Amino acid sequence: MFVRNLRNRLVALFLLLILFTLTALGSYILWYFYQHNIASLNAAMLSQGKIIEELINRDMSGPIQKAQIDEKIKELSSRIDLRVTIIDATGTVIADSQQNPALMENHGDRPEIAAALAGDNSYNIRKSATQERSLLYVSTPVLFHNEITGVVRVAMPLDHVDAGYRKILSALLIASLLTSLVAIFFSLTFAHRFTRPLGQVINTANEIAEGDLSKRVYIKTGDELEILAHAINNLTSSLEDKVNDIVAQNRKLELILENMGDAVILMDRFGRVTTANKTAVAVFGITEEMLGMHNIQVIGNSLLDQAVQAAINRKEGRLIDLKTNIHGMKRVFQVFLAPITAAEKDISGVLGVFHDITTLQNLHDRQADFVANASHELATPLTAIKGFAETLLDGALAQPELSEKFVRIIYDEADRMHRLIQDLLQLARLNAQEYREQIKLEQVLVEPVLTAAKQDMAPRWQQKNQLVSIASDQDDLAAIAHPDWLKQVIANLLENSIKYTPAGGKITLQAWHSNDQVKISVKDSGIGIPAKDLPLIFDRFYRVDRARARTAGGTGLGLAIAKFIVEMLGGRIEVESVVDVGTTFIITLPASEKRS
Ligand code: ADP
Repeated sequence: MFVRNLRNRLVALFLLLILFTLTALGSYILWYFYQHNIASLNAAMLSQGKIIEELINRDMSGPIQKAQIDEKIKELSSRIDLRVTIIDATGTVIADSQQNPALMENHGDRPEIAAALAGDNSYNIRKSATQERSLLYVSTPVLFHNEITGVVRVAMPLDHVDAGYRKILSALLIASLLTSLVAIFFSLTFAHRFTRPLGQVINTANEIAEGDLSKRVYIKTGDELEILAHAINNLTSSLEDKVNDIVAQNRKLELILENMGDAVILMDRFGRVTTANKTAVAVFGITEEMLGMHNIQVIGNSLLDQAVQAAINRKEGRLIDLKTNIHGMKRVFQVFLAPITAAEKDISGVLGVFHDITTLQNLHDRQADFVANASHELATPLTAIKGFAETLLDGALAQPELSEKFVRIIYDEADRMHRLIQDLLQLARLNAQEYREQIKLEQVLVEPVLTAAKQDMAPRWQQKNQLVSIASDQDDLAAIAHPDWLKQVIANLLENSIKYTPAGGKITLQAWHSNDQVKISVKDSGIGIPAKDLPLIFDRFYRVDRARARTAGGTGLGLAIAKFIVEMLGGRIEVESVVDVGTTFIITLPASEKRS
């Protein structure tokens, strides 16, 4: 099948050109050949006609002579290969070399006769009325004393001219055919030579378009095609550079996205999750199958979807606080939603950045709780003080026994407030970053600290008749800590043990070395702590039994302070307890390498 490609078009064009040229040239040659032949025949026949006219012009003067002409002509024409006809001025045929003139019609209307009767030499080509072939008729007037008395017409068949014409025509046709074949061959060769590099350019351009930007066109034609190849190569090089730039930028962006602490989710304009970074995958548990699902299915929060819709509709960024429940854990996120604009300002999607503020929120909540608790803790003794002072003022002062009792209560409550405020101040101090930075950790011998704490608390445990003992696996056991703060922790724990151990109970302070760590335990045979309260006892203001703890003089801050200090020293604190058997607090601190 003929395909309309450049090669075939070139071949067709060549062929058309050749055929057109050959046809035009052939036609011109044929025409010229014919005209030339006719003109020479015409001239030769005219001169013959003139000779005959010379021979007969006198005979045309009278009717008797005219009768002899036919005979003369018949005799003459046997010597020349021409048909000769003599016509008089009226158009009547008076002699003919081949026919009987008496049988011939009037020839006055023949164009060559009419023209000759008008005085001109004339010729005409037509098919003879008597013979089925083309004839050339040439006429010349017969003049006698300058008067036209008739016409001499000589006629000759054009067979040999036609035969020559046909020969040239067939030669031309054969030449055309051969030339066309040669033209097809050459045009195919040229077209192939011309289109082959073009094909190369097209193939390479297609490969480049399919994404293989390392491809280049290598052709050496020295013409516009080579310039085109250079242009394509340059274009591809700059495209490759740009694509590389974009890829590098994308990689950077991906890297940033992947390593961001915040969860980043990309949604399309219908709110479907299309992409999620590593953090988002981990936080929201997004699986491969979930990509393409609606955000409500993925995150499970209609508030977020409303904000996404609002960001799309209003074409502006939005910031919302999102409270969610992930795997049973409350999480709070500050979510920034930014609409992504595509071409013509259409929104193509929304970028969501989820900043986890759970810790911050918890801190806020804890601070609020703390303030409420602290106020409550301070308000309780204050109410008692105010109440008993009012009672005294209202007349109880007059009763010495009662007033002493009331004043003692006021004193105890004031003392509790004092301790509470001291504890709060201590916590505030520990909370201050600058203060913590000032603290320098050093090598602290453990046993002296335990002894000092025991001695400081002596009046209290002696009052309750308790037995406090110290046991250490080595005298020079040392920890990396701060002597005052370590003593504070031991004092807090010892104070609790004294408080929550009945009179006559046993308290043991023990220290030992274990795996580059120093362990210190405060063990008592006291009332113990119920298992359900154990995880909460380090919370601020947490007390197992409020009434009992209060009578024992507790503030609910001792363990919180102890935990805070231990963690500040780089250690940890644990508790083990059995109700009515006893409680053991174990502190773990880094051991000092150089023990003195
Ligand atoms: P408080 O000042 O009330 O003692 P803490 O923070 O020191 O506050 O202790 C919190 C709570 O833990 C106490 O109220 C008490 O119920 C419980 N507790 C602490 N130490 C002991 C212990 N050695 N034996 C029994 N209960 C204890």
